[in-house]
Amino acid sequence: SDNMMYVEKQVYYGNGVEGKNSYHEVLAKKLVEEIASGEFKVYLQPKVNIDTGELYGAEALVRRRTEDGEVLMPGQFIPLYEAEGVIQQLDLYVFEEVCRLLDSWKEKGYRMIPIAVNFSRISLMGIDIIESLARIRGRYGVAPGLLTIEVTESISRMGAETLGQLMERFKEHGFAFSLDDYGTRYSNLSLLARLDFKELKIDQSLIKDIMTNWRSRIVLEHTIQMCRELGIITAVAEGIETEEQRELLRSYHCDIGQGYLFSEPIPIGEFLDKYGRDYLY
Ligand code: C2E
Ligand code: MG
Ligand code: MG
Ligand code: MG
Repeated sequence: SDNMMYVEKQVYYGNGVEGKNSYHEVLAKKLVEEIASGEFKVYLQPKVNIDTGELYGAEALVRRRTEDGEVLMPGQFIPLYEAEGVIQQLDLYVFEEVCRLLDSWKEKGYRMIPIAVNFSRISLMGIDIIESLARIRGRYGVAPGLLTIEVTESISRMGAETLGQLMERFKEHGFAFSLDDYGTRYSNLSLLARLDFKELKIDQSLIKDIMTNWRSRIVLEHTIQMCRELGIITAVAEGIETEEQRELLRSYHCDIGQGYLFSEPIPIGEFLDKYGRDYLY
């Protein structure tokens, strides 16, 4: 049915602006239905203390399970939802699922870990986004410190000043930002100079060749050092796949890591099995 969307897109785009609007409406309606029918599943990938191996938190990553049991990855549907401006529906759904999950863990007496949710730039541009997040969070009684908002550098396209104001308002509600995929595309250093991120996630493209490329090692080591000296920023290395990479990152005093070495993103039940319901108390 993913292909269907593209077919419909062509049909509706054929009619100019008016057509675009109706395509947008069709897609938005369809997305709401698919969310309601439970097609979207939240998977969790652990964030781990590189030095001790201890569980530090998790990132929520969305998957789509179609009627015929096929699992679609975010890259197969998120770009379309972003292009059509309907992504906020999905991001809010994932955010709500995470709040619901943390609330159930609290009730069961599990140890609470912070969970990060990815938000597209477009999702954060809606006028009442902060109120929506605060309302959902409040409904489940989750401490805002347990919720991290991951944004990519494309967020800087709203301008440092607008972004700074937005982040201030988030901060007033207790939400912190994590800068995702750092080191790709524009790598906006001035964002780090001006804004108050809680976490910086070093993109996996920088981790990938650290064993063979000394230039990558220099960039990496200094990025980690910069985070440390900025004080409040936790450096998270993405895409750690080997023990050698982990050792090197440990020697650079990188705080937190994420990657297949520790675990792929897995369904919530599996996450609890793997990390132990006992461990999570
Ligand atoms: P991201 O936020 O940078 O998430 C990390 C991606 O790297 C995930 O891909 C994860 O499966 C993958 N990854 C983790 N460890 C490793 C590793 O060791 N090696 C390799 N090769 N890959 C690793 P995934 O789940 O396919 O998600 C792709 C992107 O889709 C995410 O990148 C994020 O930008 C976006 N995304 C996922 N869920 C959501 C969501 O709920 N809302 C929005 N707006 N975007 C989402
Ligand atoms: Mg992310
Ligand atoms: Mg990333
Ligand atoms: Mg990414």
